[in-house]
Amino acid sequence: MREIGHFIAGRPTAGTSGRYGDVFNPALGEVTARVALASAAEVDHAVGIATAAWPAWAATPPLRRARVMFKLRDLLERDRARLSAAITAEHGKVLSDADGEVQRGLEVVEFACGIPHLLKGEYTEQVGTGIDAWSVRQPLGVVAGITPFNFPLMVPLWMIPVALAAGNCFILKPSEKDPSASLILAELLAEAGLPEGVFQVVQGGREAVEALIAHPGISAISFVGSTAIAETIWRGGTAAGKRVQALGGAKNHLVVMPDADLDDAVDALMGAAYGAAGERCMSVSVAVAVGAAGDRLVERLEPRVRALKIGPGTDPEAEMGPLVTAEHRAKVAGYVDRGVAEGAELVVDGRGLKLQGYENGFFLGGSLFDRVGTDMRIYRDEIFGPVLGVVRAPDLGAATAMINRHAYGNGVAIFTADGGAARDFASSVQIGMVGVNVPIPVPMAFHSFGGWKSSLFGDHHVYGPEGVRFYTRYKAVTQRWPTGTRRGAEFVMPTPGR
Ligand code: NAD
Repeated sequence: MREIGHFIAGRPTAGTSGRYGDVFNPALGEVTARVALASAAEVDHAVGIATAAWPAWAATPPLRRARVMFKLRDLLERDRARLSAAITAEHGKVLSDADGEVQRGLEVVEFACGIPHLLKGEYTEQVGTGIDAWSVRQPLGVVAGITPFNFPLMVPLWMIPVALAAGNCFILKPSEKDPSASLILAELLAEAGLPEGVFQVVQGGREAVEALIAHPGISAISFVGSTAIAETIWRGGTAAGKRVQALGGAKNHLVVMPDADLDDAVDALMGAAYGAAGERCMSVSVAVAVGAAGDRLVERLEPRVRALKIGPGTDPEAEMGPLVTAEHRAKVAGYVDRGVAEGAELVVDGRGLKLQGYENGFFLGGSLFDRVGTDMRIYRDEIFGPVLGVVRAPDLGAATAMINRHAYGNGVAIFTADGGAARDFASSVQIGMVGVNVPIPVPMAFHSFGGWKSSLFGDHHVYGPEGVRFYTRYKAVTQRWPTGTRRGAEFVMPTPGR
């Protein structure tokens, strides 16, 4: 059995806890490797190495740190097929989608190449007579990232390039479901010239996470995963005096106005609801059909959902692969059962899908519900699978009010031909990321990503300018050089501007 270990002090390292988790190929339903689950002692060892590496890395000129990012960018490009294959083998998503994941991660590396400019402070000459002042942003120290299964490369890359380029050391605790991509990344960072101990990977589950949260040597935690864990990590991390950004789950709506180009909206819904088998935090799981759009939308969606091409991620024809584990498949199928019991109208039932040659794979067909009610669990909960529900709303005001009442606030989209309506919607909707005729409005690397409400705990979104702020601390310096005139002791509040 292949063993997946950690990456400590610049090299792959076997686990010593004696505990392992199974890693599956979801298309085959077979265990392909076992991953080491770190103990608190192993986490402590990694933090010690990072702490020792930090002063030299923080003192390295930002331009030189940026050059490591330039090199990493080229290596990710060189190895993108290898990375995509590793993602598909353990996550199950189709290869073209895995390649898209590599691309979106690589773009954050490109953003981090500009770190000398991003870290530039502000300077004021003569804040008082003979006194100058400036501000700088300095790195925090050793920071940690805890990431989910659904983007085993991209989500770590939302954090790592900005954190490292800003001068921090980084410890990644990836998802134990698909841990291999993180080790390839560690290898590429070492090849790019990153000094030993500046980036490390500690594999594991709850014990490793709790050790990171409690460790006094960790200054900040970036977490992406489900809401309940995000909130626990945010509470625990902030109570331990750390800076924490914890991104949680989602329930993303796509509003279809009666004046929208319906073919366009249906194409958008198909990709956004069923791409990656719905296992994206920006997947659309609710279509809000406004007014007369309802019946026409469902009529067009139904044949498209039935015709979804489902297969192993390695099949170039497949549009959607399996779910990540058998448990997750059962959970998603359970939500389809629940939707029927709650009285929603099941237009397409994906539960019976069987694929020849992949009978043990974790496949589930696409499901479509109509007339979903906002009190139903299938509306309120994040399902994280290939299940789309259509909710009817009489007008845009009612649609917006409904979305604003939802506990989650990650992404939303509106499809319309009316610029005024779109503008009002984008301005008033209580959601972190908004698309206008764009179904999955994931901001580019030079903006920042994050949701509102139960989709994010903490004050900063990830990557882009928000990422730079999160991974640095602000320092203000006020300076006067002796001119020969002694001022003597001053007991009043300094008033240099007087
Ligand atoms: P998860 O919450 O189960 O796991 C996320 C991480 O937390 C993993 O590294 C896991 O090992 C660790 N973890 C799991 N249980 C833990 C516990 N009890 N204590 C401490 N750590 C624990 O999430 P997942 O199933 O891997 O990923 C899917 C979820 O992530 C979905 O809810 C999805 O919406 C969310 N997600 C959100 C975003 C976003 O940007 N908001 C992006 C991607 C995924």
